[in-house]
Amino acid sequence: MSLSEYKKKRRFNKTPEPGPEKKTSELGNVFVVQKHRATQLHYDFRLEADGVLKSWAVPKGPSMDPAVKRLAMQVEDHPVDYADFEGVIPEGEYGGGTVMVWDHGIYAPENSEGVSKGLAKGDLKFTVLGKKLKGSFVLVRTRDRQWLLIKHRDEYATEGEDISETQPYSVLTKRTLTEIAEDEGGVVKKAGTGDPKKLPPRRGVKRRKKSAQKKIWHSDKTKK
Ligand code: MN
Repeated sequence: MSLSEYKKKRRFNKTPEPGPEKKTSELGNVFVVQKHRATQLHYDFRLEADGVLKSWAVPKGPSMDPAVKRLAMQVEDHPVDYADFEGVIPEGEYGGGTVMVWDHGIYAPENSEGVSKGLAKGDLKFTVLGKKLKGSFVLVRTRDRQWLLIKHRDEYATEGEDISETQPYSVLTKRTLTEIAEDEGGVVKKAGTGDPKKLPPRRGVKRRKKSAQKKIWHSDKTKK
């Protein structure tokens, strides 16, 4: 599969998102989960395979509870460079809103034939080593682009905890969606609806210096 759908949906002179180049990361098996406050809040779950990030939009986000099945809608492949993207897509552009790198790390398929074969069959068991997500998961296709993301029972599984509430910060910068929007020229109020009302304690937040703050992206075209 190519990045043509990714390319077609975006205007790269308007969005700060990376261009549609195929490549392999240094590790070759990265995964990333990006929390994205677009029209609807969702979590983009991405696995590197065949020079791209295979991608699913998970409306409620991944769960570490094996009793919870999360709907995961497969979306267009993304470039591998997308794994580091945290910032603001201008309003009016495709996916306009604030993007946070919510979790990242590496993963490995649990089948012997590899990721592509597993995905083609509609059943991929894999193990992730992230900062938040750990252990064994399965992505299983129910129909067309509709999949379920389910945690397997293992030593990392937890019951009853909503990890999106207890671990709401960026793994890159420890920022909230609100803070990313403030720093990168996004719509702060809209971004804030994706943050939990009660924020857990944190350390090491990295804010952009006021002087280095990005102005509204292409403000002349997107704002009156
Ligand atoms: Mn998205």
